[in-house]
Amino acid sequence: MINASEIGMDRIHRLFALVEKGGTTTAASIRGRVQSSGIDTDDFRLATTMARLNQFGEQHIDFEQFAALVADELLMVSRTFNRQLVIPDWQEFSRDIEIVYHSVEPDKSGRNADYIPILRDADSEKWGVALCSVDGQRMGLGDVDVYHSIQSVSKPITYAYALEQEGFAFVSQYVGVEPSGRAFNALDLLPDQRPFNPCVNAGAIMMAGLVASGAPALNAREITQTLMDLWGRLCGGLAPVLFSEQTMRSERDTADNNFAIAYLLRGRLGLPRGVDLHKMMDVYLSCCSIEMTARMLSIAAATLANGGVCPITGQQVLTTDVVKKTLSVMQASGLYDNAGTFTLEVGLPAKSGVAGAIMVVIPNVMGLATFSPRLDDYGNSVRGVSFCQQLVDRFTFHVYDSLSGGRSGCKRDPRASQHSRKQKDLSDLRWAVSHGDRYALKVRDLMLECMIAITLADGQIEQPEVQSIADTFARIMGQQTDQAELHSLAMARQEQSAQADSKVAVGPFEGLLTRLQHELPTLDDNGRELILESAFRVACADGEIEPDEDRKLRAIADVLAINPGVLELKIAHFKRQFAG
Ligand code: GLN
Repeated sequence: MINASEIGMDRIHRLFALVEKGGTTTAASIRGRVQSSGIDTDDFRLATTMARLNQFGEQHIDFEQFAALVADELLMVSRTFNRQLVIPDWQEFSRDIEIVYHSVEPDKSGRNADYIPILRDADSEKWGVALCSVDGQRMGLGDVDVYHSIQSVSKPITYAYALEQEGFAFVSQYVGVEPSGRAFNALDLLPDQRPFNPCVNAGAIMMAGLVASGAPALNAREITQTLMDLWGRLCGGLAPVLFSEQTMRSERDTADNNFAIAYLLRGRLGLPRGVDLHKMMDVYLSCCSIEMTARMLSIAAATLANGGVCPITGQQVLTTDVVKKTLSVMQASGLYDNAGTFTLEVGLPAKSGVAGAIMVVIPNVMGLATFSPRLDDYGNSVRGVSFCQQLVDRFTFHVYDSLSGGRSGCKRDPRASQHSRKQKDLSDLRWAVSHGDRYALKVRDLMLECMIAITLADGQIEQPEVQSIADTFARIMGQQTDQAELHSLAMARQEQSAQADSKVAVGPFEGLLTRLQHELPTLDDNGRELILESAFRVACADGEIEPDEDRKLRAIADVLAINPGVLELKIAHFKRQFAG
């Protein structure tokens, strides 16, 4: 009989095995194992373990000590050690994100907001991207610790606070949830005189008034402090939420348009509970003058992505219902009159601000924030928008990437849930090949054709090449292929190739593209991926991708409707492997 605690011990042994060497481990390798999962050593779920760990210094840690060390936080230790987090391979994912980050960097189009000196004079070159998963895995690239005013990024949170305090019924008497289709600072209202939504200035000013009207005993600064405290909880207290007096002074000096909006609101619908217009404006402009960093905003976004529970503190900061409403509004109006295009292209709730920040929410996966001051004509950060587009071009984060037709352009899905599903699909496909399933055999044939066509580019195809194709196939599919059949197929294509040289027929590569094109509608992502994978492996076999191979891979990816960004990541991954 095995008792329960022995089973438990067995699991701890397996955890230990992941960090041990010669029977002992060290604090450094335990920390390393945790950090490579994307979790910081200051994570609240590992506080006790890490505090104990610090006492060990460089000392060796044996199994008994290890078991005692992790005893109180077994669950989290096991999750980080075994990579059971929303994005299991955080290392790989981070490297992919780095590629996207750098691909956006050279874009210097757009210009800083210039209506106040502090924004006009801000360093336009700053570029930062920070991510935080709903499990608290974090990373930052570039200028992620630069404080900047959050400006309109404050708007959805002021709205969320109003909803939390007053409820949707009362709040919606004062603001709509419709996209405005107008500039963010337009003096336009819905036919019933309410502002279009809380993300344009009119709606945000109204929300500032509504929040102020609910706290008559507090002055504008104190009310702003309440909202700053909320921001502090949303970002898990990572760093202090600051306030820029200079921004506030400039905002007030240049607020004519915003005052015009305020008077319009008062003249038309009236202000909530007759709140003082100047107090309302002070709260609104103060909210714009709150200062945070991209790293902080990414955690706040992750809290929204996580239904209101901050991933790095475990605290429920907003109710899930309020988060749902807030995200819906962000989705429809977060990027002002560019929101429709952004929703179509990126398909994620987001909010931008004129200082150059964008806060983006990938529900149930992660929050991210970008910072780059140059803005497009809509007032959205150019690099920020472009980063989002590139991201969604490579990963299945667009809301409608979940459509189940199985044709997402072979985009990557770094989520754990999807990862295991994918593995299952692929292993089913492998099994089906070996049992003669018609679809699976078609995929197999196209894989072999692809490998032959790429190999033939180097001229002759002989027994060693045929062998290497068979080996590659075996590595991808975990099974042998009929060598005699492969050999005769290769010979037939070589024949074709010779004829093509004499300009009688199309070459094998063109023939392949035509066939792929023809089969495309019947091929799902898994099939397409295996075909690309086989071409890719043959092209990379000699340790480098020649320009001609590169061209062919792109042509295959293109004809298979695989997103160029996905191939880019594949190539980068290959180069890393060879460099490392
Ligand atoms: N302070 C700016 C304004 O009220 C905020 C606008 C924005 O970030 N889009 O005009």
